[in-house]
Amino acid sequence: MMKTIHKAFSFRLYPTQDQEKLFASHFGQARFVYNYFLRQRIDYYAFNKGQEKQSLNYHDTARMLTELKKQSDTVWLQEANSQSLQQSLRHLDNAYNHFFNHGFKFPNFKKKSGKQSFIIPQHFKIDIQTNRLHVPKITPIKIVLHRQMEGVAKSVTISRKSSGKYFASILCETQKDIHPRDTGGEIGIDLGLKSFFVTSAGESVQPPKFLRTSEDKLKLLQRRLSRKVKGSNRRNKVRIKVARMYEKVTNQRNDFLHKLSHRLVSENQAIFAEDLNVKGIMANHHLAKSVADAGWSEFIRQIKYKSEWNGVHFGQIDRFFPSSKRCHACGWINQSLTLKDREWTCQGCGRVVDRDFNAAQNILQFGQVGRDAAEPSKRPGRGGAVMPLAELGSPGL
Ligand SMILES: [Zn+2]
Repeated sequence: MMKTIHKAFSFRLYPTQDQEKLFASHFGQARFVYNYFLRQRIDYYAFNKGQEKQSLNYHDTARMLTELKKQSDTVWLQEANSQSLQQSLRHLDNAYNHFFNHGFKFPNFKKKSGKQSFIIPQHFKIDIQTNRLHVPKITPIKIVLHRQMEGVAKSVTISRKSSGKYFASILCETQKDIHPRDTGGEIGIDLGLKSFFVTSAGESVQPPKFLRTSEDKLKLLQRRLSRKVKGSNRRNKVRIKVARMYEKVTNQRNDFLHKLSHRLVSENQAIFAEDLNVKGIMANHHLAKSVADAGWSEFIRQIKYKSEWNGVHFGQIDRFFPSSKRCHACGWINQSLTLKDREWTCQGCGRVVDRDFNAAQNILQFGQVGRDAAEPSKRPGRGGAVMPLAELGSPGL
């Protein structure tokens, strides 16, 4: 089956000083538009709550932006590529949708000190002969194309990391003929409390030692930074060190995650994981921190798209499913289980249950039931591996 696939390719940019200034003005204007309309949307809702029209949508803000550009004190908004500013509005609109429909955090105001970016949705060109990126309103920018792209480039995002490095992320669209894989294993994976994850096949994976060492160094630097006087030269020096270390940790972690997700996707025909949505995680602050540190959401993102590209079935199960509390062998529910319990004895069948391994087994079973219910014709008689849904216990227990 032909499928449309999106893939982002990231390349380092080496702007001249003049180009850096133009980038800075684009970042600033994109940030201004984002923050200005976030404020507008909040205020509009505050004044119109309960009315027939109580919130602003993308089109309202786009019209308001056109007006804003004509006003004398914001006429400088005309300096940036207008499509980049519209993308800021879209970005804000997506953040709102994620908040209302998918349980994400309410959008934050963007800070000058964070990562800066703007999007160019059209009228750009990548010249592979001269290694230059052409975008509206800026002279050709030096780009290092260290790998080949696939498909048609749809948009470019130019960003500046807090370490001061510039990147272009090029989003490409391509058509791929994908057939569902019918060889390899089927696994459930659970975010472990002590390890990075545990699979239903009994594998437990730890983050590599070098990554943990780098993370410790980063924490140490961040503590040093917090003790320095704001605005001082010393603080600025440490800030740059922190930013570089942060970048190193991110790269090491992504490398670790890419190798893992690649291996799991190539070994299996079906992968199931829990849908740890942000609201659920926030309920437990400790878990939230370790989840963020371990890069779990990035890992799931990678498994998801790599599965899609390789015809592997990927399913996420409801986070309210009692994957830790339920004995995977007999279905008994341990109501008194706490986060501290690593192991428990099942009152239903008497076996000693390892918390993480048990959860991974449950995720696999529940995932298979969900999949087979959705496409029964493709999965005739899978034997005893799959239990009827009713026996798995209802969600919310
Ligand atoms: Zn049991």
